[in-house]
Amino acid sequence: METRIKELRREIDRINRELLALLSERGRIAAEIGRIQTALGLPHYDPVRESEMLDALTRQNPGPFPAETIKKLFKEIFKASLALEEAEDQKTFLYSRRSHPEPTVVRAGPAAFGGGEKLVVAGPCAIESPAQMEEAAAFLASKGIKVLRGGAYKPRTSPYAFQGLGKAGLKIGREVADKYGMAFVTEVMDTRDVETVAAYADILQVGARNMQNFALLKEVGQAKKPVFLKRGMSATIEEWFYAAEYILSQGNDQVVLVERGIRTYERWTRNTLDLSGAVLAKQETHLPVVVDVTHAAGRTDLLAPLAKAALAAGADAVHVEVHPNPLVALSDNQQQLDFPAFERFLEEISAFLGTGAGK
Ligand code: PEP
Ligand code: MN
Repeated sequence: METRIKELRREIDRINRELLALLSERGRIAAEIGRIQTALGLPHYDPVRESEMLDALTRQNPGPFPAETIKKLFKEIFKASLALEEAEDQKTFLYSRRSHPEPTVVRAGPAAFGGGEKLVVAGPCAIESPAQMEEAAAFLASKGIKVLRGGAYKPRTSPYAFQGLGKAGLKIGREVADKYGMAFVTEVMDTRDVETVAAYADILQVGARNMQNFALLKEVGQAKKPVFLKRGMSATIEEWFYAAEYILSQGNDQVVLVERGIRTYERWTRNTLDLSGAVLAKQETHLPVVVDVTHAAGRTDLLAPLAKAALAAGADAVHVEVHPNPLVALSDNQQQLDFPAFERFLEEISAFLGTGAGK
């Protein structure tokens, strides 16, 4: 009896090898189809063809497996083949590490994102006055911070909330950044403002609410300035990468991906930091990745642990909001750090910064 089992198992082993050879052949052919479809700009997924194949297979099924099992098994094969076909597209995407294995380094003033140095981007949520920015920049520069943030055009939930100082704010930001030898990053919300913002900023920020504003993405793609592309609060990782593709496809390769938390059912944090998004961004793209812990958490007590986790997971920089007096800040006053809290934050994360900012 036992010899019979051994014999039959040898048969099974042989069939496994044959199945493997057939599956591999099928995979090679699917990949070839994928290449042709990619070249012709055709979609890979064809639900009609899939259901025709499943119908034919269930009609021809000789048993002993029931039709449902056959369907399930073949659906898995179809799924794996589709992944092979789509992998062909990945090779052609400009954001993809497959099309560009070397990491991209994005330079802005004294800072280089993605070149190995870990950075801290910091500054007030909004530019409110020359004195506020002077105080913030002087303090941050004294702590070794190379990239100063501050919004001049603010995306506010309510149209009656402080909207930012506009061009006057840009001037303030530029002036203090120059005074302290820092790079200046600020948000642009409107295609009509791209040229103006680009004249003052070192880095153009596309905010979460505009991640799929395709006209804006194309416009910043033509600006030939580094871009911080924030992940939309309800955007999938793929949609975020496609948004980067819009900018890259305009000839601007200076794109930094910024994970800033996504909206979930959770209420104890403003958003939910998606660290896997940041890790996948490093893995799948050649672009530098920044993790904005402030907008992810929306509260100050989680910033250091989240920043440490982000840096340990491979982020090139962390982003935090710092204000001389958060209590009277005109926006995001619950989540900005004051100076002593920022010093403690830097101290806490310093081991994760290597020789970078804050050292
Ligand atoms: C900001 O950086 O000030 C901001 C509004 O961020 P987000 O677009 O990520 O909400
Ligand atoms: Mn803010």
